[in-house]
Amino acid sequence: MPELPEVETVCRGLEPIFTGRCIERVVVRRPNLRWPFPDQFATRLEGQIVTKVGRRAKYILITLGNDEILVIHLGMSGSILIHEPDGNSHRPASLYYDSGGDDRHDHVVFELEGGWSVIYNDPRRFGLMDIVSLKDFEGHRLFAKIGPEPLGNEFNPAYLSTRLNGRKGPIKSHLLDQSIVAGLGNIYVCEALFQAGISPQARAGTISGKRVERLVPEIRAVLMAAIDAGGSSLNDYVQTDGELGYFQHQFKVYDREGESCTNDCGAQIKRIVQAGRSTFYCPKCQR
Ligand SMILES: [Zn+2]
Repeated sequence: MPELPEVETVCRGLEPIFTGRCIERVVVRRPNLRWPFPDQFATRLEGQIVTKVGRRAKYILITLGNDEILVIHLGMSGSILIHEPDGNSHRPASLYYDSGGDDRHDHVVFELEGGWSVIYNDPRRFGLMDIVSLKDFEGHRLFAKIGPEPLGNEFNPAYLSTRLNGRKGPIKSHLLDQSIVAGLGNIYVCEALFQAGISPQARAGTISGKRVERLVPEIRAVLMAAIDAGGSSLNDYVQTDGELGYFQHQFKVYDREGESCTNDCGAQIKRIVQAGRSTFYCPKCQR
C-alpha cells in the first residue's frame, strides 16, 4: 500500500506534468474503482487547466481553473505512469509494493496538452477518484475527520499528548488513527517508534512529556527521509527506467524480523501482530 512519502513523491512527480496544462481528454475504461466514478467525470475535467497539484493525507489533489479539485487515492495497488510526448515513459515514484504495470489494469488515462498522458493503473481497484469543489473541501466526507498533517505545524507534542491523554490502547494503534494524525501508515509508524525508543505496545496515555517530545520529531524525520529518498531518486529513475525499490532500503525495523537491531544492542528485531497488522520492533531498544 502506498504510504504518505510515496504519495508525496508521486505528487512532486506529477506537479510539473499537470500544472499549467489543459486536460484535453479523459478516457475512463470502467465504471468504478472502489466506488463508481462521479457523474460526468470525464466531461467535468476536459478543457480545464490545472492550477496546482497538492496532497492531503494520502489523497492527491489536482486543482482545476474552475475551483474544482480532482481527488485521486492510490488505494492498495494504484500507480501512475507518465507518457512523454517523445514516446518515453516514466513513473513519478517506484512504490514499495509496486503493482507491476500490466496495462490491462490501466483504468484511467488523462491526456494533457502538448502530448503528455498520465495513466492510472490499479490491479486491485481499491483506489478512488472524485471531484470536489474547493469551497466544499474542508467539510467533505473524505476530509472532514482527518487529523493534522504530520509534517505541518498543527501536529506538535502538545497536540499529540492531548490526544493520547488517558488512552489505554497501544500507542501504535493511536498513531494509525487518521483522526489523530493524517496519512501515517504501518511502515512509518514502526520506524518512528523505533527511532523514538518507544514500544509499539506501550499504553498511549503514558506517552507524554519527554517521550512525546521525542516521538513527534522522529515521525517527521522518518517521513522526510523517505520523501528525500524518493525525490533524489526521481532522476535516477528516468535514466535507468528500472525498478529502484528505494524506499525499503532505509527501513530500520520494518520487514526485518530476526535480523540484528541496527543500534547494535545485540537483540533481534521481533514481529508481532497488532490489530491485524504486522509490527516490527526491537524488544531491547523500545520500552
Ligand atoms: Zn535494539
